[in-house]
Amino acid sequence: VPRTVLITGCSSGIGLAVAVRLAQDPQQRFQVIATMRDLRKKEKLEEAAGPALGKTLSIQRLDVCSDSSVAECMESIPGGRVDVLVNNAGVGHVGPVESISVEEMKRIFETNFFGAVRMIKAVLPDMKRRQSGHIVVISSVMGLQGIVFNDVYAASKFAVEGFCESLAVQLLQFNVFVSMVEPGPVNTDFELKLMEEVSRSEFPGTDPATVRYFKDVYLPASHEIFATLGQSPAAVAEAIVNVIRARRPAFRTQTNSLYTPLVALKYADPSGDLSVRTYYRLLFNYGTLFHLSMAALRCLTCGCFRRRVTPL
Ligand code: NAD
Repeated sequence: VPRTVLITGCSSGIGLAVAVRLAQDPQQRFQVIATMRDLRKKEKLEEAAGPALGKTLSIQRLDVCSDSSVAECMESIPGGRVDVLVNNAGVGHVGPVESISVEEMKRIFETNFFGAVRMIKAVLPDMKRRQSGHIVVISSVMGLQGIVFNDVYAASKFAVEGFCESLAVQLLQFNVFVSMVEPGPVNTDFELKLMEEVSRSEFPGTDPATVRYFKDVYLPASHEIFATLGQSPAAVAEAIVNVIRARRPAFRTQTNSLYTPLVALKYADPSGDLSVRTYYRLLFNYGTLFHLSMAALRCLTCGCFRRRVTPL
């Protein structure tokens, strides 16, 4: 029997790639419910799905920020049965905190944190009853390590990590697995949407030096990182499919090995000084050489990051 996989945020990027990849499984092991907030954006998915559309893939409306939308979608699923939930819907956010209102911060949490929580609560009772199920959350490396000027986004991903890390323990008792997938930068519309937002802002309430650091140092470095180290949505989808197919799925999976040093710094020094100071130096001393410096943290012999974790 094929497993029913419900995915959120499938009109673009990683969600679309995972939906198509699962629906086109040659052995037809998955029945995909690809959901999106706005059905007017379904054409790209329909095109990519090809003959799988209407067979192994159906499209449903679902806004992760709305109780009624989630309930409506769940009611449309036969028996309300979801074997695998992929929490993918998310929004990015960058900028100096002084310029971001608390209202705006709440909007990020509404999607990235409460959206995922709302979905988990919707599938949980049935998964527990059946003693089977898998909850996959598309988190981020920023769910493990904060990055300068990504304060609110990182906080929203940390929140979902903390929630799921706690829940995973309880759910093992019910044979329900939780998996966090932590991509580094991925070349989707994500960065483009961020840049559009940033270009519209005038950073009210922010001192000129901070605005300068953000615009002249952080933004070019960030762009460079997406351009040189960014993964394709297909590569991330592949990693997610492997997590879904695993018999005993891992709790955490990072998809981009070039980014593992970022997190290693944090665990190498429990005081936190190593990561905070290394990031400080990387950003303010090296600017756009940020990514090269990160690569330099890796061991030259085998590519691991254990032997060279001293600050540059
Ligand atoms: P994307 O912008 O292409 O996809 C995000 C999707 O979520 C969009 O289709 C959007 O419409 C949808 N969405 C937003 N709010 C929603 C809501 N309320 N209800 C339903 N859908 C909603 O970007 P992406 O890169 O494919 O992002 C997918 C996930 O991957 C996100 O959770 C993101 O945080 C995470 N991620 C992305 C990157 C990256 O660099 N692109 C890196 C790490 C993690």
